[in-house]
Amino acid sequence: MSKDCNVKENYLKVLGEIDKEKTTLIAVSKTKPVSMLQEAYDAGCRDFGENKVQELMEKIPALPKDIRWHMIGHLQKNKVKYIVDQVYLIHSVDSVELAKEIQKQAEKKNCQVNILLEVNVAEEDSKFGIFTDNCEEIAREIAKFDRVHIQGLMTVAPYVENSEENRPVFHKLRDLAVDIGSKNIDNVSMGILSMGMSNDYLVAASEGATYIRVGSSIFGNRIYAV
Ligand SMILES: *Cc1c(COP(=O)(O)O)cnc(C)c1O
Repeated sequence: MSKDCNVKENYLKVLGEIDKEKTTLIAVSKTKPVSMLQEAYDAGCRDFGENKVQELMEKIPALPKDIRWHMIGHLQKNKVKYIVDQVYLIHSVDSVELAKEIQKQAEKKNCQVNILLEVNVAEEDSKFGIFTDNCEEIAREIAKFDRVHIQGLMTVAPYVENSEENRPVFHKLRDLAVDIGSKNIDNVSMGILSMGMSNDYLVAASEGATYIRVGSSIFGNRIYAV
């Protein structure tokens, strides 16, 4: 694509700022062309995040097979069937109904599915996600689906000017994971914390993120058609 965005340089810069033993960098490639994903792949990236089923279905066959695809966007029940056996991790499960559909499609495809519960920590009206107080109860319900495996929690923090403002949000997500983890619920693991984006990944990493999801700091700003 354009020479003003050096994907390789950007990817390696972000990677150099985090502890790779503790945190995995997911390159969020939504709206970006396959050529730019290939550049990140060539720089060593194997984890890519997309937020639309259609885009995943176009990109997966066009890129190397050893990529771990992360579904990070809101997932509609009627689209689960297209990706359930294609993605490595679904970060955005926010209801028992959605998990039930994942279970149903996983039975059909005879596969197992790893998921995260998306938590709306800051309780913003504009965001998807489970409220903190309901999280354990929903985890217990979803745990009953034998092909759906909760691996941890995900949050999309508010947009803030100063990334430090999101530290309490990340801290709360970690506390919640520790709390639910301590209950030792069968078929529920709390090992993964997916939190932090271009604006605040350093703060998220310092609060224990095991995945950060970084888009524009790697691929440049996104231009959406109007
Ligand atoms: C787009 C997106 C990101 C990456 O956002 P940037 O600010 O471009 O880094 C991370 N997480 C989710 C859920 C997203 O939709």
